[in-house]
Amino acid sequence: MDDFKGRVALITGGARGQGRSHAVAYAERGADVVLVDRCEDRDVIGHPMATKEDLAETVRLVEAAGGRCLATVADVADRAALDEVVARATAEFGRIDIAVANAGVSAAAPVQSTSTAMWDEVVGTNLTGVFNTLGAVSPGMIERGYGRIVTISSMLGRMGNTNMAAYCASKWGVIGLTKSAALDLAGHGITVNAIAPGNIATGMLHNDALYRHLRPDLENPGPDDIEDIMRGLHAQPVAWLDPAEITRAVLFFTAEAAAHVSGTVLPVDAGNAARV
Ligand code: NDP
Repeated sequence: MDDFKGRVALITGGARGQGRSHAVAYAERGADVVLVDRCEDRDVIGHPMATKEDLAETVRLVEAAGGRCLATVADVADRAALDEVVARATAEFGRIDIAVANAGVSAAAPVQSTSTAMWDEVVGTNLTGVFNTLGAVSPGMIERGYGRIVTISSMLGRMGNTNMAAYCASKWGVIGLTKSAALDLAGHGITVNAIAPGNIATGMLHNDALYRHLRPDLENPGPDDIEDIMRGLHAQPVAWLDPAEITRAVLFFTAEAAAHVSGTVLPVDAGNAARV
């Protein structure tokens, strides 16, 4: 279990959800971990936001798994803030070998009523945030001739969907960005791959505002209602995935076995890829 011994892995959106699962898995396998999350106390498009307590809990789990952990508070939409995180991490751990551009937000509205603020929030985090992460970590990786970068797209980065124009656009963008970055960085020992997950029961989808928006007739949606809502939202057989299933794909892309795998998109989506 020490296949990442001596490596340093940076994970954006690491306070909870999938990011937490990736962080703990790297620590269990011998890596040091740099967490980035914004932990802001504001209401963004009805999204239930991660807290400083969430971030502290991930730190606790990483350290319990035997990894050193640097937890930073930064917004991935802010390039200068990310540069600062990378400088701190490099001072503390010497370098960053692995970056998982995982931070993301979702919002639900038909395109005709998607506000500019909602668009900017979703695209700013999901697409510009990935661009900023690539920009912040790649100079050091180029210098050392080694890097493993994983971006998190979505099954909605490979298809359209009702009420999800901003989210779909941002996640399609992640795939174009990933493929271009893979080519630009290919000569520097750096791989860049995307994962396109299906539905995972994290904070992002436990979103009362989203459920209220989609089914205003339901006052307190129960598990069956939510299943029903998700079925309508994604027009698919619903199978909830576990964050650990995405973690396994992240570990694969960043392991030595995948040294020559770059520019790919791996759907981990309970079969929805069959529709694309
Ligand atoms: P969570 O909401 O549980 O975790 C996302 C984390 O990213 C949160 O801690 C969130 O903080 C943080 N984050 C969001 N925006 C920023 C920002 N601008 N700067 C720093 N941190 C930020 O959701 P998941 O773990 O499920 O999401 C991880 C990734 O997986 C996302 O990119 C998402 O789009 C993608 N995905 C998720 C699916 C799902 O079904 N859950 C399906 C397909 C893809 P905050 O609370 O402040 O927003």
